[in-house]
Amino acid sequence: MSARILDGKALAAEIAAETAAAVAAFVQSTGVQPRLAAVLVGDDPASAVYVRNKQRACQRAGIASDLHRLESDASPCQLLDLIDRLNSDPLVHGILVQLPLPPSLDTTRVLDAVNPWKDVDAFHPQNVGLLAQGRPRFLPCTPHGVVQILHRCQIAVSGQHVVVVGRSEIVGKPLALMLMQRQSPVGADAANATVTVCHSRTRDLAAVTRQADVLVAALGAARFVTADMVSPGATVIDVGINRTHEGLVGDVDFASVQHVAGAVTPVPGGVGPMTIAMLLSNTLHAARLQTAGL
Ligand code: NAP
Repeated sequence: MSARILDGKALAAEIAAETAAAVAAFVQSTGVQPRLAAVLVGDDPASAVYVRNKQRACQRAGIASDLHRLESDASPCQLLDLIDRLNSDPLVHGILVQLPLPPSLDTTRVLDAVNPWKDVDAFHPQNVGLLAQGRPRFLPCTPHGVVQILHRCQIAVSGQHVVVVGRSEIVGKPLALMLMQRQSPVGADAANATVTVCHSRTRDLAAVTRQADVLVAALGAARFVTADMVSPGATVIDVGINRTHEGLVGDVDFASVQHVAGAVTPVPGGVGPMTIAMLLSNTLHAARLQTAGL
């Protein structure tokens, strides 16, 4: 058997085109151009590439974007002052703080300082709380990208057993919250899953992952999920991005899993491009929310 390849790159292009059309209509009707402010602290090359890719995607969608760079030895005050300015700038609709921050900065404190109406990553506790309650303001980009892949590939999770490996605040936990809700803004098929969340203390992980109709790997370990961990015909979503001497690889051993799974996302070209597409959509959404009252 050879699995269906879920082409995140093509789906992301489809979503970006939809967003670009919606941005053009929004600009036409309001005269307001959605704007994303990206904050990059330090000189981590991978972070610089991520931010550049996000800015380019914004440009293509008609969203203005500015890069605000601080040196790696920036003080907490400098960064919080910058965020304060962006929070109160009426021309800025979305604020993105590229992670990881240098260790000298308190990430939680910084993310908590972002205006929750401009929090296009959905990391602010107010937005996390709304998501947990099933009334999200913004859907976090990577989990939303996963849900969109499933939805647009007609893989319904309703009533299915989804196993998520990883419980991070950025991926695993919010994804589990999204899939277990009674309703989803993405569609009726994207809610009501039975969700199991695994982590580094999970006993007999393979016995749990083999129960999955949909298995999501978000643990950050190269090619960790092997064919023996996958039930025949299951859908496997690979969130992982691991830099190895062979280049970028996911958390799934694609070579073996593709012969067991019913469907699988590749790396690169799976969840990664979807994350950026959902950021564009959130920035437009933020602009709509902030313009609605004008
Ligand atoms: P993270 O914060 O490091 O969290 C990893 C999670 O996996 C933790 O909950 C950890 O458990 C669990 N875990 C680690 N090793 C495990 C093991 N052997 N067995 C079971 N669980 C294990 O990582 P993250 O930020 O969620 O990122 C996960 C991966 O996704 C990384 O490769 C990252 O680069 C990638 N990523 C991709 C995108 C994208 O756009 N495609 C976006 C974000 C992240 P504990 O909680 O017990 O430590």
